Amino acid sequence: MPRVGVLALQGDVREHVAMLVNIGAEVVTVRQAEQLDDLDGLILPGGESTSIAYLLTTSGIRPVLEKKLADGLSVFGTCAGLILLSREILDGRADQWSFASLDVSVRRNGYGRQIASFEQPVDVVGVGEVPGVFIRAPRIETWGSELEVLATLDHGDGGHPVLVRQGNVWGCSFHPELTTDSRVHQLFTDSL
Ligand code: GLN
Repeated sequence: MPRVGVLALQGDVREHVAMLVNIGAEVVTVRQAEQLDDLDGLILPGGESTSIAYLLTTSGIRPVLEKKLADGLSVFGTCAGLILLSREILDGRADQWSFASLDVSVRRNGYGRQIASFEQPVDVVGVGEVPGVFIRAPRIETWGSELEVLATLDHGDGGHPVLVRQGNVWGCSFHPELTTDSRVHQLFTDSL
């Protein structure tokens, strides 16, 4: 049974916890740097990337997680979590920092604002179609050749990756935790 943390500073923590419990993982809600020890994986939830970034700094988690990422901890960022892992943030706040662990450039609210939120099925490599819930979602605009693209979605925009992996770091622009389909979480925990 993998031991998976969910960063619990802000965002839809509860939904990720429920999903992980449902697939039989041991779950730790992470609010302090020490809780990052002895994890097999960590999820950075959706929410507000600027708030989560601020709380990562004030809680002292930022430098510890930075080191864990470099040491190979498996980390999966969904929506705001993806923004936090990206190399470059477009339309971010001027002082917005990120871990730069995924070689992607993301545009905050790249699919439009709250009112433009949508659901569209996403075809995931090796899994099949899963429901895709996009809420003020970041859009991956450019990506490096080391990136494994596990799902691409054409939302009338020619198609952009929506689920990606680069070694131990995973990111998706939608919210698999807001559905009853646990296969995306399963894909991540199976890799741990
Ligand atoms: N647009 C939000 C941000 O910039 C992310 C939205 C989400 O996580 N649902 O943080």
